[in-house]
Amino acid sequence: MLAVVKDKPLENHIALQEVPVPGVTEGWVLIKVDLIGICGSDLHTYHWTKDYQQRFKGLLPAIIGHEYTGIVEAVGSGVTNVFAGDRVVSRTPISCGRCQPCLSGQEAICNERRLLGVHYDGAMAEYVTVPARNCHRLPPDYSPNLAALSEPISIAFGVIHKIGRPLGKNILIIGPGPIGYFIALLADMAGAHKVFVLGLPSDKKRFELFERYIPGVEVESDLQKLKSKLKQGIKDGGVDVAIEASGSPQGPQMAIELTRKQGLVVQAGIFADSPSIDLNAAVRNQITIKGSPALPERLWDRLLALLASTSKKQQEGFEAAISDIFPLKGAVDAFKKAGERKAMKILLSPKQ
Ligand SMILES: [Zn+2]
Ligand SMILES: [Zn+2]
Repeated sequence: MLAVVKDKPLENHIALQEVPVPGVTEGWVLIKVDLIGICGSDLHTYHWTKDYQQRFKGLLPAIIGHEYTGIVEAVGSGVTNVFAGDRVVSRTPISCGRCQPCLSGQEAICNERRLLGVHYDGAMAEYVTVPARNCHRLPPDYSPNLAALSEPISIAFGVIHKIGRPLGKNILIIGPGPIGYFIALLADMAGAHKVFVLGLPSDKKRFELFERYIPGVEVESDLQKLKSKLKQGIKDGGVDVAIEASGSPQGPQMAIELTRKQGLVVQAGIFADSPSIDLNAAVRNQITIKGSPALPERLWDRLLALLASTSKKQQEGFEAAISDIFPLKGAVDAFKKAGERKAMKILLSPKQ
């Protein structure tokens, strides 16, 4: 089968290779991949940033990719929760089931956590094999495009869950990429008062998407202008919640400075280079900072049910994040395009 492989420790590099179709073992399932997205983390792997060099230490060559949907082709012995022919999505962290985080329902931060597409061969291929317990079945009529987006939407859902109650709050999102966009859609659905988005002048096309699907959204590429907007428009002088979803080293500092006293900063972006931040403002203003990694299993079914029950317009809003669908064999071009940051979410289709 055809697969996208990080075969060599090179910058701006992935390779397309012919590899054997994996077999199924006890408790695991074989899935025929239907659509798979290029994640920001796949771009870190492609660019070979420092954090990802560490992550893949001793693990090359590896088939990458984890944001996918597909149809179950075969199940291993002992599998009772999914069946051949089911449309599924799966969670990325593969957990041990025995450690303290696992036993407390936080298996996404398992002490022995392994990741699909890093420690185990990923889904950017014609077939992938994953533990059955990582899979979620979807109804046959579930939109494949929406299913393919469910993993990155789950990251956004985790951020909203960290906020607790977004109802009536002023929320700032730094970084208008796909995760930032999904956070904005979910915050709006959850009744946020106003959603502000900070990006770069080069994000003009992305801003249009926000404006099309989020009524009253305020997009801005000029930090000073945003500051004065917040000063005039909000009596507390800062937002209730700032979400850093850019992974830019300047992001966390901006998030802290644009948040009101006793507000919340949620860190969702992953950094290529460690940011240097002055935390005095966070101390003096009693700001809470939370990290938000992958969504735990217990919240996944809630997310999938929410996505299944959204209005046509909302579903269209999520799916509008897909800017391109490339054939799997065009993966090298797709990564090149994704690396330019002009596209939103790029999907690959092994069927084409
Ligand atoms: Zn991802
Ligand atoms: Zn564990």
